[in-house]
Amino acid sequence: MRPARALIDLQALRHNYQLARELTGAKALAVIKADAYGHGAVRVAQALEDQADGFAVACIEEALELRAAGIGGPVLLLEGFFEADELPLIIEHDFWCVVHSLWQLEAIEQARLSKPLTVWLKLDSGMHRVGLHPKDYHDAYQRLLASGKVAKIVLMSHFARADELDCASSDEQVAVFEAARQGLAAQVSLRNSPSVMGWPSVSSDWVRPGIMLYGATPFGEDQAVAACLQPVMTLESKVICVRELPAGEPVGYGARFVTPKPMRIGVVAMGYADGYPRHAPTGTPVLVAGQRSQLLGRVSMDMLCIDLTDVPQAGLGSTVELWGKNILASDVATAAETIPYQIFCNLRRVPRLYSGA
Ligand SMILES: *Cc1c(COP(=O)(O)O)cnc(C)c1O
Repeated sequence: MRPARALIDLQALRHNYQLARELTGAKALAVIKADAYGHGAVRVAQALEDQADGFAVACIEEALELRAAGIGGPVLLLEGFFEADELPLIIEHDFWCVVHSLWQLEAIEQARLSKPLTVWLKLDSGMHRVGLHPKDYHDAYQRLLASGKVAKIVLMSHFARADELDCASSDEQVAVFEAARQGLAAQVSLRNSPSVMGWPSVSSDWVRPGIMLYGATPFGEDQAVAACLQPVMTLESKVICVRELPAGEPVGYGARFVTPKPMRIGVVAMGYADGYPRHAPTGTPVLVAGQRSQLLGRVSMDMLCIDLTDVPQAGLGSTVELWGKNILASDVATAAETIPYQIFCNLRRVPRLYSGA
C-alpha cells in the first residue's frame, strides 16, 4: 500500500475550537466549508458536534452533506442561496442563510415559505466582494422584518485585511459596520480567524473561525495565539528509494537541483497529485526520521526528493512528515508562496486517518 496519508487529530481540533471561544467569549460557528479545509467535513462536524454552537459552509450542497450524515443544529450558508429554488430546502433543513445581495432579499420577499428563515444580513464594510452597500443596509433589514418571512436576523460583515496587524483597514471596516447598524437591535458577527486571534477589541456575538480550527496561523509573522494552536493534519509518507550521488548530478525534472557535493537522497511517495505544492522550492522543510531536512529539486506528480546527507539514521522506509506538528503547514505554504488555506484545500488522493474521536 502506498504510504502517503493524512493523519487528522480530532482532539487538537477540539482544542482549537475551544480556544476560539475562550479568546472571544462569543458563540462560534466552526467554518467547515470546502470539506473542512481538506480535513473531511463530516468527521470534523461529528467531532465538534457536542461542543460547537453551529457550523458554516459555503453552499447548500455542503450543508446537505452534513444533514445526510446526521449532523443536526445550526448550519450557516455563507453565500446564502445561488438560486431562489434552494429556499424550500433551506427551510426544510433549518439552514441559516446569509443574504449578501439585493436580489436575494427580493427572492425572499417573493418566496412562499412554510416556516420563517434565519438570515445573516451581510454588509460590505470595505472588502468590496459581497455584501450590501451601507446605504441599503437599514432598508434591507426593515424589508426582511416586514416580509414576515424571517424569524431572526444577525448582522454580519467580513474583514479583508485582519491578517495584517498594523493595518488600519480592519478598524475602518468596524467603523463602517457600526455606522451602518446603528439603531438595529440584533446580534452581530464580524470575526474570522485572524480577527479572533489578533483583534481582541472587536466585539462580535458570533465568531466564525476557520483556519485556526485546523491549527494553522493566518499570520505571516509570529503571533501569540498562533503558538497556542495545535496542528490537526499531519501529512506523511515514507522514503521509497535511497541513492548516493557524487557531486554535479542533477535530481528530478528539469535538473532544477544539482548536487554541490556528494549527497544521499531519499525519494518520498508524495507529489503534487496529493496536494503537496508543486511550487515548493529546494530548501522547503521536511521532517525525516525525526530530524528536519529539506526538499530537493522539483516536486513530481507522485514523488519528491529530500536530502538525507546529514540524516544517517534515515533510510528506506523512514517516515517523512511533509507538514504537521513539527513542520508547520504555514511554513510550507510560505516557502511555496501560497497560504495554508490553499495547501489544505488541495489535499487529495491520500487517505485520511482519524484519531482522537
Ligand atoms: C471562510 C470564511 C470564514 C473563515 O475564515 P478563516 O480565515 O478561515 O477563519 C469566516 N467568514 C466567512 C464569511 C468566510 O467565508
